[in-house]
Amino acid sequence: MNQYDYVIIGSGFGGSVSALRLSEKGYKVLVIEKGKWFNQAEDFPKTNWNLRKWMWLPGLGLQGLFKMTLYRHVVALSGVGVGGGSLVYANTLPVPKSEFFNSGHWKGLSDWENDLKPYYELAKKMLGAERHPYMSRNDKAMLQMANEMGSDVTFEKTDVAVHFGKIGMTVPDPYFDGKGPDRTGCNLCGGCMLGCRYNAKNTLDKNYLYLAQQLGAQILAEKEVYDVVPVQDDGSTGYTIHFKDSLSWFSAKGKINAKGVIFAGGVTGTVRLLLKLKTSSLKTCQI
Ligand SMILES: Cc1cc2nc3c(=O)[nH]c(=O)nc-3n(C[C@H](O)[C@H](O)[C@H](O)COP(=O)(O)OP(=O)(O)OC[C@H]3O[C@@H](n4cnc5c(N)ncnc54)[C@H](O)[C@@H]3O)c2cc1C
Ligand code: SF4
Repeated sequence: MNQYDYVIIGSGFGGSVSALRLSEKGYKVLVIEKGKWFNQAEDFPKTNWNLRKWMWLPGLGLQGLFKMTLYRHVVALSGVGVGGGSLVYANTLPVPKSEFFNSGHWKGLSDWENDLKPYYELAKKMLGAERHPYMSRNDKAMLQMANEMGSDVTFEKTDVAVHFGKIGMTVPDPYFDGKGPDRTGCNLCGGCMLGCRYNAKNTLDKNYLYLAQQLGAQILAEKEVYDVVPVQDDGSTGYTIHFKDSLSWFSAKGKINAKGVIFAGGVTGTVRLLLKLKTSSLKTCQI
């Protein structure tokens, strides 16, 4: 018997959007996230030197929101926690220019620019994106440099997923007709990549996940999915999702059944998990 219609592994951008849209369709949804909830200002680090609150390396007692995955030639950075990468990202939401859609592999397959336009607009609306209202010293320096190079037309301010409003002022939900959480005006502290301690950054727990929860979606934090086993070989009757505590030394285990599974653990989470399961539990399914 399946306890959920869908289990979503990971609560970043992919997982949060899936959680809301599936919940809107009436499905029973569970999101499993290996990182922590970061609700209060005190949950976030004030500086990078507070490794325990900043970095994610639970084996060493570091239970923060910033993960570095070391590969042979590169280091991949990612966010860990309810909201995934949105907790640490730089909030910039640029839409690719026409040149992008008309080059390389995109070219000729479809009218991508127009096909995707309404979805970019929807995502920006959901994330509360607005043109940055201020010019920092860095912006001014860039503009001056662009001027000197004769390419000032290429300078533009970025759209960012931040509530600006009035600095430090908390207002009722300005985005979702009152269904969302209160937001506070950004104070320009510049600490976005440590996580926002001022309730101004429009992280996924303030929009997609928040609204999904109101529709009944559940979020299980501090649990890492390590196996997904089809009930029947082809997965047609559902899957058993195995997870373990991600923070405790003893890693207590649990399992849950669902009709479908969404792998949304980001590149460093999903790819690793799928490659492992491809030759074990999921080898009878088509991946
Ligand atoms: C420092 C930084 C700055 C960035 N700035 C920008 C920017 O300005 N604009 C922009 O567009 N993009 C930016 N990005 C990139 C953006 O954050 C990512 O592209 C985006 O978060 C990817 O979304 P995702 O849903 O694929 O995965 P993620 O958002 O990474 O979410 C995956 C989640 O799954 C969880 N997870 C993984 N495996 C498991 C498992 N087995 N069990 C349970 N949970 C699991 C992880 O803990 C994580 O919370 C930035 C990224 C970083 C690191
Ligand atoms: S208050 Fe600071 S951390 Fe929060 S969005 Fe503004 S600049 Fe970023």
